[in-house]
Amino acid sequence: MLELRRKETEVKRYSVRERKGHVYQEVSEPQDDDYLYCEECQNFFIDSCAAHGPPTFVKDSAVEKGHANRSALTLPPGLSIRPSGIPEAGLGVWNEASDLPLGLHFGPYEGQIIYNEEDSHSGYCWLVTKGRNSYEYVDGKDTSLANWMRWVQ
Ligand SMILES: [Zn+2]
Repeated sequence: MLELRRKETEVKRYSVRERKGHVYQEVSEPQDDDYLYCEECQNFFIDSCAAHGPPTFVKDSAVEKGHANRSALTLPPGLSIRPSGIPEAGLGVWNEASDLPLGLHFGPYEGQIIYNEEDSHSGYCWLVTKGRNSYEYVDGKDTSLANWMRWVQ
């Protein structure tokens, strides 16, 4: 009983602190996709690590959606797309720059948003949790809509 009550309090605290400025129809607790990882603390955080601050995101090279070769052109400097070291995996993304600092974040994964599970079998779909029992897929199959992350193995 005590355990249960503590959980409810946690949920409320999260929803007030982490979701401020947004209007949500129902109380939602943080989902797996809301968490980022701090390599130094070896721990997960939301928004900002208490010890190391906000994450450093590496921006994609800017390319309009609809460009036929968009996915490859969005690749940030220092990375390359070439055959994966994983057998039968096709292409992969390689780090060509040896001086990338620890803890960089890349992404997010881009593509066409899909809501039906039946349409999610392209092999490039990323399942995103939007809330309790609420999901969507980001499909990276179409290279004119996806970004380079479709090749990350
Ligand atoms: Zn940290």
